[in-house]
Amino acid sequence: MLKMGYRMVSTVDLRLLWKFGYSFGYKGMKSVNRFKKRLKEGKVFPPFLYISITNTCNLRCQGCWVDVDKPQHFISLEDMNRLINNAKKHGNSFFGILGGEPFMHPQLFDILEAHPDCYFQIFTNGQYLNDETAGRLRKIGNATPLISVEGTEIVSDERRGRKKVLSKTLAGIEAAVRNRLITGVATSVCQSNFDDLVREEWVDELIERGAHYMWFHTYRPVGPDANPELALNTEQLVAVRRFGVEMRNKKAIAVVDAYWDDKGQALCPAATGISHHISPFGDVEPCPIVQFANETIQDNDGDIYKTMTESPLLEDFRKTAAKATRGCIVLERPDLLKEVVTRHDARDTTIRKAAMAELEVMDSRGSQHQPGREVPEKHWMYRFAKKHWFFGFGAYT
Ligand code: SF4
Repeated sequence: MLKMGYRMVSTVDLRLLWKFGYSFGYKGMKSVNRFKKRLKEGKVFPPFLYISITNTCNLRCQGCWVDVDKPQHFISLEDMNRLINNAKKHGNSFFGILGGEPFMHPQLFDILEAHPDCYFQIFTNGQYLNDETAGRLRKIGNATPLISVEGTEIVSDERRGRKKVLSKTLAGIEAAVRNRLITGVATSVCQSNFDDLVREEWVDELIERGAHYMWFHTYRPVGPDANPELALNTEQLVAVRRFGVEMRNKKAIAVVDAYWDDKGQALCPAATGISHHISPFGDVEPCPIVQFANETIQDNDGDIYKTMTESPLLEDFRKTAAKATRGCIVLERPDLLKEVVTRHDARDTTIRKAAMAELEVMDSRGSQHQPGREVPEKHWMYRFAKKHWFFGFGAYT
């Protein structure tokens, strides 16, 4: 941990480190405490909102659920400001920015600049990160790029449907590090990159390249190009968890996950209510891959707090998901998800209008919940942080 601390202070602009520590660390903790207090009052408003600000992207990834090949759509700066300002009134200070590719949004930097008191994590393929864009991020100071790497050069091209993907992404990582940003690297671990990336040498390479944190998601076979054959099997799902816990204890890099508590018990962030998602069209969704909604950010004069805390669909989704599994209802029980959608006559939020058809052909499969194979946190700091600010929040009784 000391080595990682030293890496942070010697490679990150100290002003950015302060903003991260205060706006994400301290205020983030307070926002979770307010979330917990609201839960006791029967009100569920997530401290972490994930917002897909556009559907457009320059890549065509396997398993992507976004309408990337459809006409471009952007959530306007005005709508983003109203959404963020409303959430801030309820203690939120952290926002996940997704897409499509967020750097293709013409007002991305204006959105960040408009909220210096907040912290943003930008989920990006890194292809638009260079000294100009990374320099702007450094100047604004309140965002970290989480750059996705999906495999070796050949696998990356295959996974992402374009040529020379990895070299462009690695150049993006270099630009982020060179501009002293807090830089993260994410992977959607699947059959084609498991052997290459779920290994210590890859973590060492990330440290060598200057990354400060890493995040292993597990592949979700969804969307129009689902490729279910890429999904991980039970042994691999447990191995990814075990590997993450081991690396936390061994390497000078932070290892993020959103699927397990301090005891290694699985959880679904959407089922616990700690996070929900806004689609590129302003739809209020349980999570990015559940593309059904009955509410939008325009409802209640843009009062997202009122819209989310009063949403029968979100409430039913959380209760049904938590009752069915500690894992992912989309993977394990797509049939139950279909029932929730039908019960509320929820709208298909995609342009392709195929979300239900895609759900209907999904087979049930394993997810992060592997009862009896829990891997508890080994490192005291992760154990402490999860024990207090990232667990089931009473969803799993
Ligand atoms: S439903 Fe599945 S993909 Fe969505 S947040 Fe829960 S575990 Fe993650």
